[in-house]
Amino acid sequence: MFSNNPFRQSGKWYRGNTHSHSTESDGKLPIADRFSAYQDAGYDFLVLTDHRKVNDVSAYSSSDFLAISGSEVHPSNPYGGPVYHFVAINIHTPVNCSKMHPNAVLDDIKEQGGEAVLCHPYWCGHTITDYLPLRNYFAIEVYNDTCMGIGKGFSEQSWDDLLDKGGPVLGIASDDSHGTEHDCFHGWIMVKAEELTLDNIMESLRTGAFYSTLGPEIIDIDLQDNQISVKCSEAQSIVFKAERSRGRRFVASNGTLLTEASYSVPAHTKYVRIEVTDVTGKKAWSNPFFF
Ligand SMILES: [Zn+2]
Ligand SMILES: [Zn+2]
Repeated sequence: MFSNNPFRQSGKWYRGNTHSHSTESDGKLPIADRFSAYQDAGYDFLVLTDHRKVNDVSAYSSSDFLAISGSEVHPSNPYGGPVYHFVAINIHTPVNCSKMHPNAVLDDIKEQGGEAVLCHPYWCGHTITDYLPLRNYFAIEVYNDTCMGIGKGFSEQSWDDLLDKGGPVLGIASDDSHGTEHDCFHGWIMVKAEELTLDNIMESLRTGAFYSTLGPEIIDIDLQDNQISVKCSEAQSIVFKAERSRGRRFVASNGTLLTEASYSVPAHTKYVRIEVTDVTGKKAWSNPFFF
């Protein structure tokens, strides 16, 4: 299920952000302005995830833009760490989680037809101890732009910890937009889907038919037996990351930037994911492929 290669599926690429706030919670823009800002910036879809609320966003979808309702929910943490931040994509009823176990919250999101993301682990101060007991989430935020306000936007190690010690989990780059500039349009996902419909986008999210980026483009990924290859926009480095000490990094040399790389996956490797970094330090992340 999590080894789908979106580059070998039919459909089109759609750009979207899964985490945003309006004046209905602590965001700076009213709902209509939040959606129009993303549409004007060339996005195909946006999930509105105000804290502890679910807003009706049905008025903001059109033939070429999809408005998805959601919420950011905050159950308490019985495992010793700080309160959780879960983004619920595609729910329609608020989750009143004040007295709920985090797994009951995740079950509720799933029962509503939604999908849950574990948000900004680095910023939260969360570790594997907080995440390992959880179930029924599909992704973790590998990047959260608003958390760069304190330099804690990247959560790659949290993702790898979960991949190494827990179950399959996908990675998402998001803005978590609250303002109008500093945390907007910097981290997004490119989703491969047949059409820009809620069902198609949700199915592509669930099955990992997307990649995350701050700018670099992943053009193709090819999987042949034990060989994984990537083609991308010009990169300073391309890294194949696998569990623990496995993997390989390719670095541009003699001023020639990389546009492709290939890795022979050693026997008994659990998974490989790809990171592309351009000359300005902007990154793109594939989802993990399981062998
Ligand atoms: Zn949060
Ligand atoms: Zn948020």
